[in-house]
Amino acid sequence: RFMSRMPIVGGNWKMNAGNGTTKQSVVELVEGLNAAPKPSSGCEVFVAVPYIYLDSVSSTIDKSFKVSAQNMYKEAKGAFTGEISGEMLMDMGISTVIIGHSERRDIFGETDALLGAKISKALSLGMRVVACCGEHKEEREAGTTMDVLVPQLEAIVANTEDWSNLVIAYEPVWAIGTGLTATPEQAQDTHAKIREWLASKIGTTADGVRIQYGGSVNDKNAAELAKAPDIDGFLVGGASLKAGPFSTIYGVF
Ligand code: PGA
Repeated sequence: RFMSRMPIVGGNWKMNAGNGTTKQSVVELVEGLNAAPKPSSGCEVFVAVPYIYLDSVSSTIDKSFKVSAQNMYKEAKGAFTGEISGEMLMDMGISTVIIGHSERRDIFGETDALLGAKISKALSLGMRVVACCGEHKEEREAGTTMDVLVPQLEAIVANTEDWSNLVIAYEPVWAIGTGLTATPEQAQDTHAKIREWLASKIGTTADGVRIQYGGSVNDKNAAELAKAPDIDGFLVGGASLKAGPFSTIYGVF
């Protein structure tokens, strides 16, 4: 792995309150993480929690974990029922945000244009952005993975001037929540292609851009995936809901 790319591992809780649906299950997961082996100084770790728990988690979780939002809107304030702004997140001390998860794209219809505007806003506020991309099963099978990724990546490139706060999460949709992890070879191959495409746009800056892999990462397969030179960390869903497996995953770096 290129020296300047410190591995970064995120636990994406999605619409889960820890391993349950109550504030008590959030408390239990935080207690578990606080008691688990800490991330090494050579690895950044964040947990992306539902909005309503951001404040309690950030005030109770060990400082070796960053706390992230899973989404935000592009505007600062106003008549946008149900939305949360980056300004509000920053005011709460939340400076990391996931943008463009495939569930936002596929279930909530978020487009590259909207996601680009969110990325631009978050970066302008000084936030760390984890920008997601990924192809569906049929697209991979048809050999069109890069054709699908390029417009997603273009929206990222068009809205990023300072790359120091931008992390890319490559998450093949067919691997998310399915137990079908990309093989280390498949993941490495796509990560390398993403980096090569990025280099054609931003030159050697691409060498420093961290690319996380996401999609059924667990405590069994993380070590093997982490050996791939262009995999700079993971975005973990299901396996981040229990402290034991999650700490094993970030522990591979
Ligand atoms: P998963 O989810 O680890 O449960 O497959 C990953 C993600 O969607 O970020």
